[in-house]
Amino acid sequence: MKALIVRGPNDVVLDDIDMPVVDVDHVLVEPLVSGLCGTDLEIIAGTIDAAYVHYPVVLGHEWVGRLAEHPDNGALVVVEGIVPCGVCDECERGATNRCRTYDEIGFTRNGALSEFIAVPSHLVHELSTEVSALDAVLTEPMAVVWRALTRAQVRAGSRCLVIGDGTVALLGALLLQRFSPASVTMLGLRPAQASLAQQAGVSDFVTDIADRRFDYVIEAAGQGPAIATALAAADRGGFVVLLGLPAHGTAVNFYPDDVVNNDVIIQGGLSYTRQSWAEVVSLLNDRVIHPSFLVTHHFDLSQWREALDTLAHAPRDQPRGKVIITLNND
Ligand SMILES: [Zn+2]
Ligand SMILES: [Zn+2]
Repeated sequence: MKALIVRGPNDVVLDDIDMPVVDVDHVLVEPLVSGLCGTDLEIIAGTIDAAYVHYPVVLGHEWVGRLAEHPDNGALVVVEGIVPCGVCDECERGATNRCRTYDEIGFTRNGALSEFIAVPSHLVHELSTEVSALDAVLTEPMAVVWRALTRAQVRAGSRCLVIGDGTVALLGALLLQRFSPASVTMLGLRPAQASLAQQAGVSDFVTDIADRRFDYVIEAAGQGPAIATALAAADRGGFVVLLGLPAHGTAVNFYPDDVVNNDVIIQGGLSYTRQSWAEVVSLLNDRVIHPSFLVTHHFDLSQWREALDTLAHAPRDQPRGKVIITLNND
């Protein structure tokens, strides 16, 4: 079967590999659509800590598919990417994102940019037949954002600021709507993203916030200066949620006395839990979120080079949301 394989740093090929072996507690899934994100570029570049990637690896950790045994029942499935051990103390308390044994589809085991993938049965979530593949393909990044927002317990009526204008920031704005905010401002660098931001529920897209303060600041740019801006933008009693992952070693200057005097809470957060994944699937199945407008660039597997190039170098004067690759389109 065909698969997009990263054999090692800066060594990507579309090649034939053996069909996956399906263990007793696994099921075979046909991926239909797989999104790409900056992390895939980092896997290709070899800049991720060796503990988190095992080469060679098939790319693809944001995806939707259908069960290979029941291709005609119409139901799509999404599959949690983190494979928790299920027995460590973190798993016991539901913190599957912090499982003591790191194992993740598309990182330490083969991902979904292939004709078939074998996945642990207990990680499979079935979607209702009304959910489209383009809505479902955003489940993984939504689970990350949802976990951060629910953990922060965003209060209704809050003035929210999202820093960044990429897909995670846009999903942040979209999912914030579930918490009935008074307003969601987006601070971005690319005015071309304003139309996507408006569809995500952003009330105003700005390139400068001057001295404005907010109840919740969601930092989704992952750059040092943006994090400093986030910390400075929290009002008294405010909450700063750090979603973006800056390069290792990035340091930020901030004024801790302001954090103390202003009674500010700063929250980090790693990935998603089983619970946040299940909650996002419920939001999709209940038809209360429709993120597919964020899919702006479509490719098929043979166009993988163009897809990666678009991800890395799309023109900044045109809207760009999620870049996807379609598979098994029959
Ligand atoms: Zn990703
Ligand atoms: Zn565990």
